[in-house]
Amino acid sequence: MEFIDLKAQQALIREAVERRIGAVLDHGRYIMGPEVSELENALGQFVGMKHAVACASGTDALLLALMAYGVGPGDAVFTTPFTFMATAEAIALLGATPVFVDIDPVTFNMDPDELRKAIEAVNAGVGTPHPLPRSAAQRRLSQRGIIGVDLFGLPAEYDILNDVGARNGLFVIEDGAQSLGARYKGRQACALAAVGCTSFFPAKPLGGYGDGGMCFTDDDQLADVMHSLRIHGQGRNKYENIRIGLNGRLDTLQAAILMVKLEIFPEELMKRQEVAERYTKLMKEASVSVLPPEIPPHSRSAWAQYSILARDAAHRARLLDRLAHARIPTAIYYPTPLHLQPAFSELGYGKGDFPVSENVAERIFSLPMHPYLRAADQERIVAVLAAERGEQ
Ligand SMILES: *Cc1c(COP(=O)(O)O)cnc(C)c1O
Repeated sequence: MEFIDLKAQQALIREAVERRIGAVLDHGRYIMGPEVSELENALGQFVGMKHAVACASGTDALLLALMAYGVGPGDAVFTTPFTFMATAEAIALLGATPVFVDIDPVTFNMDPDELRKAIEAVNAGVGTPHPLPRSAAQRRLSQRGIIGVDLFGLPAEYDILNDVGARNGLFVIEDGAQSLGARYKGRQACALAAVGCTSFFPAKPLGGYGDGGMCFTDDDQLADVMHSLRIHGQGRNKYENIRIGLNGRLDTLQAAILMVKLEIFPEELMKRQEVAERYTKLMKEASVSVLPPEIPPHSRSAWAQYSILARDAAHRARLLDRLAHARIPTAIYYPTPLHLQPAFSELGYGKGDFPVSENVAERIFSLPMHPYLRAADQERIVAVLAAERGEQ
């Protein structure tokens, strides 16, 4: 059993992938070849945004979005500490300050009430009642924006995040690295804020055979700037540079591979949904001692991960041990919230600052999740979880 079975998928598309790779080898335009705009058009339509800007990774997508808003030193950007490193890293790389906001204990996404408190705290320059990075208490940071994260494939509460953003003059970026294909109130993930960013890392819902990412926006001016930034801040031509940018292009080969994967993506999303529903049903029937995910009725997850909560750290350790003995692969996303990562120690946060994130980090783990997971394997997994309960 695989945690994410990319081989099962490849068996279905191998020929088509080889054909499209062959076409790239034939035309030889490895950089910004026609497949790149083909993918941009297809995904822009899929998501429902006017502009799609392909780039080299999900991390670059976040960087491009933040750079397009001119984020830099002295700026504060709100995001959650319970996410992959890249979300806060992009903010810090630009010299800006990530201001962490705790998560909701059910959705694992940013808690809008905590966001309001964080905004107030930054305005006041006082780290109580909401904890702030050390620098925010020392000098006034300029509040610039919010990055909502769609953790495990579930969109954050963008109606509220966008509203809070608008009231406070903050841009909102959607980190949809895990949520491409998800829905929120009838809209597609990555189209839920002014800019949506996604990733084509192989293990994401739409993954390539290497790194890749994309930004989506309806804003012509932001799109213009992101196009320029992705190629060294280029101006009217290759040899005019009007701003400091990146080498942030998506390889033609990855775009070609992703075009093949996109064909089966809608069906894969349905299969992920079925797998998730089966897990939850089996767990409820077996009255397991873990909490399955709860998806708000107005949302549909892309199910990048199926993550469940144990009672506490010791309970999780016992369950992971049992699953390992049964040769069932598991993972912990994420064992350490970002505010406690050594890389962010400069921010001056401490244990206890974000109690929900810290508690979830001690209890959460993820089960195998991919479109080709067999019902029999799911039954075996849930049986292992259920057996633990009998031995309390
Ligand atoms: C994977 C991921 C990223 C970064 O994407 P890369 O393509 O690996 O750079 C950013 N944010 C979140 C939430 C992610 O899961």
